[in-house]
Amino acid sequence: MPVTLPTETDKFSSWLMHRSGPCLVAGPCSVETEEQILGTARELAKNDITLLRGGIWKPRTSPGSFEGIGEKGLSWLRAAGRATGLPVATEVATPAHVERCLIADVDVLWIGARTTTSPIAVQAIADSLAGVDIPVMIKNPMNPELGLWIGAIERIRHAGVKRIVAVHRGFSTHIQHKYRYQPLWRIPLELRRRMPEIPILCDPSHICGARQYVPAVAAEALEVGLDGLMVECHWRPESALSDPGQQLSPGQFAELARNIVSISGSGVGEANEQLCNQWREIDEIDQDLSVLLTKRMSILQQAREDRDGLSGKDLTSVCATRLMAALVKQLPRNIERKSGVCPSGCLETEADSDGARKWQFQSGIDPCGESVSSNRLA
Ligand code: PEP
Ligand code: MN
Repeated sequence: MPVTLPTETDKFSSWLMHRSGPCLVAGPCSVETEEQILGTARELAKNDITLLRGGIWKPRTSPGSFEGIGEKGLSWLRAAGRATGLPVATEVATPAHVERCLIADVDVLWIGARTTTSPIAVQAIADSLAGVDIPVMIKNPMNPELGLWIGAIERIRHAGVKRIVAVHRGFSTHIQHKYRYQPLWRIPLELRRRMPEIPILCDPSHICGARQYVPAVAAEALEVGLDGLMVECHWRPESALSDPGQQLSPGQFAELARNIVSISGSGVGEANEQLCNQWREIDEIDQDLSVLLTKRMSILQQAREDRDGLSGKDLTSVCATRLMAALVKQLPRNIERKSGVCPSGCLETEADSDGARKWQFQSGIDPCGESVSSNRLA
């Protein structure tokens, strides 16, 4: 059967953006009890939020952790929405979830990061949505692959769903920074460039994994021009059955909501967009490098301490150090030969007597792990 594609995707402002500032989706990670979702909703409703969220079926990394209250929670969520006048949203991962939500009159569905990673799962959800006019929010996949995110949006759109929102919730990478997942802002910004008609919210709660970082990431999202936020809030965050460390209390959420009203997409002007994204990407690479170098130096330090207790020569650590020294020595020259650009982008260089350049490391750290009086490496 040929599918009829919608001619255009509805603009965000025409359906979800009823408030003057950025769109705000808020609510607990999971619906736990009738009192918990109602109590949380009543607190959040004081802040002119757009939509109440609450997970019913929770795709958790480890079996045995709280996997959601299940279907009975749908009526509690629905009742909390009615009591506060808020539309409600929950996560669906299977066609059966979609069916239960439609029966329970849930207003908005979302597809979680783990589900977006699987085209077969997304297609099954898309098939179950054919002919259904319900808004769908699509989180980015766990891995930093824009194609999967766009593919999921296309699958849902091909099912005939017009009201689609993307949600940026950070990416899993092999480098651990202070946030649980890396924002990699260039990816949502590239999505914006490729699909300008799709509104994008940021979920700082899942990016950060810790509530103290949420306000800064929320502000950054709005500064780069994303359309709003999805924030996890719980009336008693410390006792939450899932994601207790990242959920805001109602008071913390109220403060965030007050502060973000004044932030609008000022960070990236159209003319500067490419440049901003390039600098953003360089910042991310620098951050990765600094984490990796710090890790490398601490392993080296440990290896040195361990070696002191050994009688023989520890060839492994010596070789590793030499390999790094050789790489560092070669890198600037290779890059210079190709592009004439210092890898740091801004450091002074000077010519050697044989014409080779010397590079100065801004941080004063010798990546070989030695503490040296001169930080120049020829
Ligand atoms: C959630 O929103 O509670 C959730 C599980 O999010 P994610 O799919 O982004 O991990
Ligand atoms: Mn969560």
